[in-house]
Amino acid sequence: MLQFSDLPALLGGAVLQQPAAPAPVQRLLLDSRRVETPADSLFFALRGPQHDGHRYLPELYRAGVRQFVVETGVELPEGLEAYPEAGFLVVDDVLAALQALAAHHRRQFALPVFGITGSNGKTIVKEWLAQLLSPDELVCKSPRSYNSQVGVPLSVWELNERHTLGIFEAGISEPGEMARLARVIQPTLGIFTNLGTAHDAGFAGWEDKVEEKMRLFGEVETLFYCADHPLVHAAARRQLSPERLAAWTRQRAVYEAGEARWLVSVKETLADRTVLRVKQADAEAHTFTLPFADEPSLENALHGLVVLLHRGLDPAELQRRLERLQPVAMRLEMKQALNGCYVLDDTYNNDLAGLRLALDALSRQPRRLPRTLILSDVLESGLAGAELYARVAALLPASGVGRLIGVGPDISRHQAAFAGLQTRFYPDTDALLADFRPDDFRQELLLVKGARRYGFERVVAALQQKLHGTVLEVNLDALVHNLNFYRRQLQPGVKLMVMVKAFAYGSGSMEVANLLQFHRADYLAVAYADEGVELRRQGISLPIMVMNPAPDSFATLRQYHLEPEIYSFELLHGYLDAARQAPLPPIHLKLDTGMRRLGFGEDDVAELGALLHANAALVTVASALTHLASADEAGQDDFSRGQLAAFARLTPELERIIGYPVLKHALNSAGILRFPEAQFDMVRLGIGLYGVEAGGQRPEALRPVSTLRTTVSQVKTLPPGYTVGYGRRGEATAHERRIATLAIGYADGYDRRFGSGVGEVLIRGQRAPLVGSVCMDMCMVDVTGVAGVRAGDEAVVFGEGLPLPALAARIGTIAYELLTNVSERVKRVFLAE
Ligand SMILES: *Cc1c(COP(=O)(O)O)cnc(C)c1O
Repeated sequence: MLQFSDLPALLGGAVLQQPAAPAPVQRLLLDSRRVETPADSLFFALRGPQHDGHRYLPELYRAGVRQFVVETGVELPEGLEAYPEAGFLVVDDVLAALQALAAHHRRQFALPVFGITGSNGKTIVKEWLAQLLSPDELVCKSPRSYNSQVGVPLSVWELNERHTLGIFEAGISEPGEMARLARVIQPTLGIFTNLGTAHDAGFAGWEDKVEEKMRLFGEVETLFYCADHPLVHAAARRQLSPERLAAWTRQRAVYEAGEARWLVSVKETLADRTVLRVKQADAEAHTFTLPFADEPSLENALHGLVVLLHRGLDPAELQRRLERLQPVAMRLEMKQALNGCYVLDDTYNNDLAGLRLALDALSRQPRRLPRTLILSDVLESGLAGAELYARVAALLPASGVGRLIGVGPDISRHQAAFAGLQTRFYPDTDALLADFRPDDFRQELLLVKGARRYGFERVVAALQQKLHGTVLEVNLDALVHNLNFYRRQLQPGVKLMVMVKAFAYGSGSMEVANLLQFHRADYLAVAYADEGVELRRQGISLPIMVMNPAPDSFATLRQYHLEPEIYSFELLHGYLDAARQAPLPPIHLKLDTGMRRLGFGEDDVAELGALLHANAALVTVASALTHLASADEAGQDDFSRGQLAAFARLTPELERIIGYPVLKHALNSAGILRFPEAQFDMVRLGIGLYGVEAGGQRPEALRPVSTLRTTVSQVKTLPPGYTVGYGRRGEATAHERRIATLAIGYADGYDRRFGSGVGEVLIRGQRAPLVGSVCMDMCMVDVTGVAGVRAGDEAVVFGEGLPLPALAARIGTIAYELLTNVSERVKRVFLAE
């Protein structure tokens, strides 16, 4: 067992203070929001451009964490006295210390370890190789795509004495990084998946990139790769001796020249499978059928296939295992389900590390709903049953799980571990489904977590039954990408308020607010008090500004601690009167510098200041703001600058009269990019977070967040001369047409102005124009030019491939309107890695 006192010898650095009661180090902790078992955790205070782990030391200490690795020269918040019982190791480079500790852990185990790198497919190759090997080996592998400088050490830390094989993926974005990952993983075997264009920003050229990636394989006995990537092949031959190379190829000449061990030829490609012939020198050729037809899957599966051939697995057995390969879901999805439930869908694997991640995601959901876990047997942990399920049970309280539905013989056998929870157990998924009653699930948050072989997608489908065929898919990773893009535009110390009004621009206020709270935004803003109440009820504790507080909402503001924007004397007098009855939250003063909508005028400032000064005991001013009328139009920059200058002039005067400083803010999304000099103390991010760059300056920097999808309900072939829809507005044509009816209409928020050829949707990746009028719940599109369209196919209405600004322009509106119009009856599905 590793003790705090072992750390200086392993990691270097100096002990600033010994822990009062040291406990063996079992868990590496990097994120203060993810404390599980504080006493045996070791926290690494990592620092990055947007982030400083040292800031969270007080919070961690309060949570019971007692062992810390901190950086030389960084002052401890609140001083060393604030942590009387804690141990601190001070090192020059905290990340290097984390990696050194993981490398030390890795050295304790002599077992085969695969290191996987390449541009694409790392995670899938890893998962499939683990699937193929699982009958023979107890595999320890990186959870999801934990392949970074931080993710790799955490993955390797999961190794324990029962594992017989490790598979870890390594991803890099800059030169120098691979050598560090290689020291942690210490691979004995390697797979180079391929070389593509991903992540090349940090590298001078292709050669540099491939050389850098090859550093993972300096010590491997055998490197598996496809010789048909010329740069990979050349680099492998340059750096490793021929007996260490295990290449496969689809080019006969390469194979005949002796540069590859296996020659793969595709004999037949069917709709959903591929038949291959694999030839190996001095051996019979074998035929395999893979359950996929697309090229990337083929390449990913072939890496695993040759590894198993190399290990000498019987080809017939290999074929059986290949048939069972399952597509790998790369994301954790949050879905709306029956009876007001939400499902966190994680049905692709179920090992302890994956379970911990999924529970962690569950615990970060602030919805105050009861939590139920539907869990299959936990596999591949390397632990004996009793200990394993005791560990699983210990993970549950932190994520608030109150009910467990266990599926599988193992978990059923160890049900005693879950005393204290409401439980139910089934031997298999069929038994669960046979007993499935929708009424059992009501207003709760369900985590569905199962090993592949349990086929829990059927459970998720049962929970989602009777859903309308149209969904708005909200990509939370893209949202975080956009958040970070805008954060990088801010001067140090400038705060970020995020607008989550109008159901977070249609994206779902709860999930968005929750994510923003997790990523530590400073403020949220909503339009109306009831939007703020809903956030509070669901557990959002960030400060919230309400832009349009009605006078009769003041008691509500008080109860839920919502801070109103005050824009008129009338409203201010009302607020002061209410504050005389009982204290009220601080206020935000809206100054009108040119928008001519809401706000105090320039001439009001003296009177406003005096009134606030006289009533200083009753209300406090948290901030002063103004809003630009044309931040997204370059042609209006002079006007915008005039507004900003007025704001810069008025606010010091206001502060002088009231006698204390307030936060000042003026910029919306477009303004953040256009007026970097006018950020004041805070900015107000809106549409940019949701993936639309309203000013058109940096559209490529943002990722689309929302995709509206619907389904084809029916396809008809119409002879020449037939019309379509109400009023026969889908005019007859001289040729035969195929018309698809889609399950979306204006009641879902799909604008009627898109009718009659103005709008189009994407089906099977191709554009299909609207025919006739948009109806209340349906619309029709012409799919004559799209081969093979069938009922049940998906149609993209906007989002990936159909960017919002261009669509909006077709009907003379703006992206804001399309986003916020998606009606609440459309189910939101949230995607996150
Ligand atoms: C909506 C709103 C914003 C955000 O505007 P975007 O253009 O969406 O960035 C900022 N400030 C105020 C006062 C708003 O009403």
